[in-house]
Amino acid sequence: MKRRDFLSGIAVTSATIAAGQGTVHMPSPTKEVPRQSNPKNIIICAANGYNYLDAGYEKLHSGADTLDAALAVVSGPENDPNDDSVGLGGLPNEEGVVELDSCLMHGPTRRAGAVGGLHDIKNASAVAKAVMEHTGHVMLVGEGATRFGLELGFPKENLLTEHSRKIWLLWKESNSNQDWWGPGMDDPGWTPPAPMSGELKDQPPHVQKLYAMAADLGIAPEDRMDAIYKVLHPPTGTINCSTLNEKGEMSSVTTTSGLAWKIPGRCGDSPIIGAGCYCDQDVGAAGATGSGEENIKIAGAHTIVENMRHGMTPEEAGMDALRRIARNYNNDMTKIAYISMFFYILRRDGTYAGVSMWGEAGPGQHQRRFAVHDGAKRLEQAKFLFKGTAKDWPPMPRLSR
Ligand code: ASP
Repeated sequence: MKRRDFLSGIAVTSATIAAGQGTVHMPSPTKEVPRQSNPKNIIICAANGYNYLDAGYEKLHSGADTLDAALAVVSGPENDPNDDSVGLGGLPNEEGVVELDSCLMHGPTRRAGAVGGLHDIKNASAVAKAVMEHTGHVMLVGEGATRFGLELGFPKENLLTEHSRKIWLLWKESNSNQDWWGPGMDDPGWTPPAPMSGELKDQPPHVQKLYAMAADLGIAPEDRMDAIYKVLHPPTGTINCSTLNEKGEMSSVTTTSGLAWKIPGRCGDSPIIGAGCYCDQDVGAAGATGSGEENIKIAGAHTIVENMRHGMTPEEAGMDALRRIARNYNNDMTKIAYISMFFYILRRDGTYAGVSMWGEAGPGQHQRRFAVHDGAKRLEQAKFLFKGTAKDWPPMPRLSR
């Protein structure tokens, strides 16, 4: 735009405002990605949403709102007591409280809602939608978010299942010093630990003690290795889901119980608009699972959507975001080795990608696959930045499950 045009634009705007008219006609500051040439309904989400894709697709197919279709998918893991990374049965914080995070964006109305540290209500994504629809705010956290949800009639539930409670007790009783206290990997003084390997008998005493404690707590023999693994390597989880309908409308939502054994009040990327999820239906949507702290620092989902606005494909846009995370560690592979990050990306023209920091899914990590439904439901392999598997965080001896 020429300077003269810009100035005359301001003059028009001021005049319009002065005249008390509601709508200000400004040139659009954004670029658009063209719509699909062969319009169809598309959903992409994290692999743990696979079983619920039909429900979401059915909604899109019958003309329901794109956000309601995405919520139909993510409420599946939220309601599933056996998914210990989302909603009911999620692994708790260090005090044994299941704290949920979620955020969402509704493309057609360009609105957003979020909750952080929600407790006692399993459907964090639905409460995030209620924040969007029933308040003048975008985000509520902690006690306020929970009280708000209860006032709106969401049922109060104990989200800690027996399964999760016993794993938490095992963690608590082992009084792990490998928790989330102390400086993180981005502290300039951080050094990687010496590698530990070998049989159980070669492990530090507290690891060996866990085996006996798991039995004392009544954890079934077949679940014991899994529980110990989760104590030593706090698992992550989460689901993001983005939808696009035949009319070109889009929405996106992310929901999680966040990191196991986290410090109470910790919010990861999942409730942060622009990090855990972002949607601009002129361009596309993106969402994330993985190392929340790393993603917040690059505003991952927003970065990806802006990359697409400026012409990148979904895959290029996601890879650029992953490279920004690596760059934050000066590409130091001793540190990047501990970062697991996955982005789910859907562009307005129907192209999509799943991109992962690491190529292979290790035990306790997200699969390097993501789920798609565009009339045919399937799991697809993600593209990746580095070959191999991320190391589990925090650094500990590797145990077979
Ligand atoms: N990003 C989530 C968080 O940091 C965890 C995850 O995706 O697994 O809370």
